[in-house]
Amino acid sequence: MNDFQDKVAIVTGAGSGIGAAIARELAERGAILIAADLDLPAAQEVAGEIRADGGHAHAVEVDVADAEAAERLVAFAVETGGGLHLAVNNAGIGGPNENVADYPLDGWKQVIDVNLNGVFYGMKYQIAAMLNSGGGAIVNISSILGSVGWSGSSAYVTAKHGLVGLTKTAAIEYAQQGIRVNAVGPAFIDTPLLSKNLDEETLGQLAGLHPVGRLGTSEEVSALTCFLLSDRASFITGSYHLVDGGYTSR
Ligand code: NAP
Repeated sequence: MNDFQDKVAIVTGAGSGIGAAIARELAERGAILIAADLDLPAAQEVAGEIRADGGHAHAVEVDVADAEAAERLVAFAVETGGGLHLAVNNAGIGGPNENVADYPLDGWKQVIDVNLNGVFYGMKYQIAAMLNSGGGAIVNISSILGSVGWSGSSAYVTAKHGLVGLTKTAAIEYAQQGIRVNAVGPAFIDTPLLSKNLDEETLGQLAGLHPVGRLGTSEEVSALTCFLLSDRASFITGSYHLVDGGYTSR
């Protein structure tokens, strides 16, 4: 399937986990991929794999919490690919695990900066470039924690809820100018975000919270994300789509 042929796509957090899977799928389907990550070597590795498979990819170092860096990233995509058509605002961090009264102020600020402000900075410049490119589609990676709470993760939950509202508002604002904006809400996905921070026993307990009885995969999140980016989702905008193994149905 080459339905993204020659479309220029930015994926943030493309060096690992969900972002890497989305970057690979977009490139396999023909996109010119701009793989952006705080971890440049990781983004370079993913971009290198894509090129080795015959695709088009460039790696860029970016801190999504830095508005000027977000603007430079979009400028690079436009200069390199001749426009911008697709964007996935995926980069995110977990943050401290403390109840609200004990939650550290610097940790709160960092999580909101990366997981919420970073998506706003991204969209601010991506939308301007998409308007100049004849339209486009954006997916913001939220979480099941964009609709339910999780003890100890107030900043993460707040940011993920916030970006659902940001998604809906941008979708309304640009619906008549050919830009669709949607959010995806994964449950617990088997990526380094979990495996770096949790032991096997905890990962097993998390798996058991999903009616399907396992964690999700990055490829399962990518499948939904790429569908929403594709023209097959032409009447879908401003909505928040779960990929959660039944987690929120309980
Ligand atoms: P991951 O494996 O940790 O990958 C995230 C990538 O983003 C890493 O390469 C990370 O670099 C990078 N990154 C972190 N901060 C950044 C910044 N300020 N600017 C640019 N890049 C940055 O995580 P993941 O599990 O794939 O998560 C991707 C997204 O899905 C996140 O938004 C996360 O909240 C969301 N999500 C994940 C799950 C899950 O269970 N895994 C569930 C729901 C939602 P470093 O390694 O250098 O930090």
